[in-house]
Amino acid sequence: MSAIDELLAGNERYAAEPAEEGLAPAPSRRVVVVTCMDARLDVYAALGLGRGEAHVLRNAGGVVTDDVIRSLAVSQRKLGTREVMLVHHSRCGMQSLDGEAFRAELAADAGAEPPFEIGAFADLEADVRESISRVRESPFLPHRDAVRGFVYDVDSRQLHEVDAGG
Ligand code: ZN
Repeated sequence: MSAIDELLAGNERYAAEPAEEGLAPAPSRRVVVVTCMDARLDVYAALGLGRGEAHVLRNAGGVVTDDVIRSLAVSQRKLGTREVMLVHHSRCGMQSLDGEAFRAELAADAGAEPPFEIGAFADLEADVRESISRVRESPFLPHRDAVRGFVYDVDSRQLHEVDAGG
């Protein structure tokens, strides 16, 4: 049984439960959380979030890429969100990844330069600040003031806020 087959079995059990009613497409807390794909981080549990309450955008590192800006633009302009919460985490794989070496590895295997940024970073807090700046400086987002950045400690499960500076 492949992992996906196991997930399909999980979906059958889930779909057999009674459905909840009345969830609107717009997130009720009007917030977007941008965070890492790290499997140890259960975003909903860690933030006390329920279904229907927030948009959660995840990628390797929780980096604010062009595609995250795209999703934030849709979220703010079409689905009413107002605040952006950026969450990086301790012991992130993107912190130990050598971005240049990974880029070279992709280019060598693919025979072409990857068109995307690798997004590796050495300093967690510096990357949180960079991510805050990317949101604040995007002309595509109508709501850029209420953006805050945090580091989640995967051991203590606590968040601490990163001062955006400037
Ligand atoms: Zn990570």
